[in-house]
Amino acid sequence: MCATTSFCLKVWPCHGAAPPFLPIFAQTISPRPQCRAPTTPLTDLSTAITYLPGVGPQRAKVLEAEAGIRTFGDLLHTFPYKHIDRTRLYYIHELTADMPFVQLRGEILSYEEDGAGRKHRLTAHFTDGHGVIDLVWFQASAIKWIRSHYTVGRVYIVFGKATVFNGRLNIPHPDIEPADSLQLSAMAMQPYYTTTERMKKAGLNSRSLERFTSTLFTRFGADMEAATRETLPPDIIGSLHLVARWQSLRDLHYPPSAEALRRATYRQKFEELFFIQLGILSYARQRQQVARGYVMATVGRQFNTFYRDHLPFALTAAQKRVVREMRHDMLTGRQMNRLLQGDVGSGKTLVALLTMLIAIDNGYQACLMAPTEILAEQHCQTFRSMLAGMDLRVELLTGAVKGKRRMEVLAGVETGSVHILIGTHAVLEDCVTFAQLGLVVIDEQHRFGVAQRARLWRKSTTPPHVLVMTATPIPRTLAMTLYGDLDVSVIDELPPGRKPVETRHYWTETLQTLYAGMRREIGKGRQVYVVYPAIHESEKLNVQDLENGYAEMQEAFPDVRISRVHGKMRPREKDEEMARFASGETQMLVATTVIEVGVNVPNATVMVIMNAERFGLAQLHQLRGRVGRGGEQSYCILVTRYQLTTETRRRIDIMCETNDGFEIAEADLKTRGPGDLEGTQQSGMAFDLHIANLARDGQLVQLARDTASALLDADPDRTLPQNAPTWARLAELRHDQFDWSNIS
Ligand code: ADP
Ligand code: MG
Repeated sequence: MCATTSFCLKVWPCHGAAPPFLPIFAQTISPRPQCRAPTTPLTDLSTAITYLPGVGPQRAKVLEAEAGIRTFGDLLHTFPYKHIDRTRLYYIHELTADMPFVQLRGEILSYEEDGAGRKHRLTAHFTDGHGVIDLVWFQASAIKWIRSHYTVGRVYIVFGKATVFNGRLNIPHPDIEPADSLQLSAMAMQPYYTTTERMKKAGLNSRSLERFTSTLFTRFGADMEAATRETLPPDIIGSLHLVARWQSLRDLHYPPSAEALRRATYRQKFEELFFIQLGILSYARQRQQVARGYVMATVGRQFNTFYRDHLPFALTAAQKRVVREMRHDMLTGRQMNRLLQGDVGSGKTLVALLTMLIAIDNGYQACLMAPTEILAEQHCQTFRSMLAGMDLRVELLTGAVKGKRRMEVLAGVETGSVHILIGTHAVLEDCVTFAQLGLVVIDEQHRFGVAQRARLWRKSTTPPHVLVMTATPIPRTLAMTLYGDLDVSVIDELPPGRKPVETRHYWTETLQTLYAGMRREIGKGRQVYVVYPAIHESEKLNVQDLENGYAEMQEAFPDVRISRVHGKMRPREKDEEMARFASGETQMLVATTVIEVGVNVPNATVMVIMNAERFGLAQLHQLRGRVGRGGEQSYCILVTRYQLTTETRRRIDIMCETNDGFEIAEADLKTRGPGDLEGTQQSGMAFDLHIANLARDGQLVQLARDTASALLDADPDRTLPQNAPTWARLAELRHDQFDWSNIS
């Protein structure tokens, strides 16, 4: 059923990347109909922008290239990034330097010029009858223009931001308009539009765009309104008290009040998120109908034997719950697509093993993919030792497995004598053929690209059940959007007896104290990681590097056995060094972030991160997760130099305050924005929300999802007439996506 690539790509990639139709939502509120010349006086959304007064061919070119504005509709959907409230006039005596932009009404008493050249300055003494304030200009050209245009004694509206200069309040470079010839936006909420350098060079600043939208609404408003269809069903609009689509579009540009702007923004954000969720959910439901999965009804000998005789410790309640959730998935006859989130050290591996045993009990093979050879090998060892004495064959397949050994493994996989295959992307190679692949577990998925996963898909005629495990915590709102079609399980509990890792901040200048602490831990028989941001010295980065750091550590710890691991080493060497550290032969591991993911050495209790300011929150948290895996108190030491930006300071503080991966991920999402989040970028997610913000609009994401879900429940066959425009809009968005994918 799933033999073709195109089908694979449709069903598969939602684990890491946006489902294939997602990028359309970049255009949720920016439809791109074909341009057409208006043949009748009636204009609509597809009317070319050149028909707007003031936009000639030159400017049209710039508008299209820089802002994607080709049609009236595009302009309508180019929302201002902020408004400034010009509905209120202030008195001069009310002003303070921390106020935003303000408006004053009054007259210029006199001008005063002083300085020359770059210091040339024009001051206008301005009064509103209640006080006097100076308006100041610095550029010679501005000065000339101001003096010739604004006369003493006439009444003006002055608009600007008060600042303190030489101990006195003044307003540098204000906007001035005669009080008797106000523009549309004066005395209203004035829109500000984003423009680029190139636009500015072509004379297109925010004010020009303001003139365009103003013309759009005053000259063509009625036509545009007639051409704008409502996209949400009436009952959703009613129950959520949303403003109508046209009104929200208009108010986003020219709101009569701050409240109107708030409601318009809310409506547009909701719409944007709603169609994303409707797309994801309807897709997921379709897939459930289409993609049948293997029925794994038996929990049999292998699972029970392991559970009874081999389980090294009692499962946590969270682990039990998650195993139950997966057992249920595998029974239904639907293909399981589950994302397992659990903080570092929460015990995901064991859960994966139990799930694999269910597959084996039902006559299937299972496969585990890890992002690195080190990790694959470590999983293999763990599995073999846990399953020792049980009649199960666990094999490793990485790039390092060669020659005769490789042939044996491949043959075993093909005949079915290998029950569990563990590997890196080597398991994706075409020469790997499974007898009966029933379950695929992908560990730390964000390292796997879409194409790689699609290849694995082809290894089986019926789609295997899929379990994607990640410790990179994904905030709920992002998960709902990125992995919206996956079922999510969460291990929200650490195994008992773990002591939370203590995190401390050290300055580079106080390393000696740190070294003393490290010596104490090593003296107690513990092991230590030291992580550097770079391998080699570099003038440009000015950070500590592993090569120098290694020499420094050798000098500071002459009697300590030190390993060194970095990404440029040959895999074989790297693995040998890792193995030496894991076995306790070496006591210190100096490394780059290659050890970031998954490595498990419970005896290591100290994680020192040099130049911690160079790392993102998610990365710091992953690194910290390498310690605190045994019963001993562990420490994470963030070393930075003295001068830190506020942003870095905040990151360090968050790390020191909390061990909760989800809290950290939320903070990360808030400061960096979803596009930046580690993992999401690697997965090639093109996520371009126009107005909604996944970090700030979390509750709205949930509301959008619930509303979309209810709509699908109420109208599964899409036949209710009141929903017709909504389904049409969804189809339109998908269709746009189709074009988009053909182009790129
Ligand atoms: P992660 O979720 O980060 O992949 P692991 O699966 O590597 O975590 O587990 C971390 C450590 O916790 C391992 O040493 C594992 O053996 C141990 N562990 C897992 N489950 C339990 C449990 N229920 N009780 C005690 N220790 C456990
Ligand atoms: Mg793991």
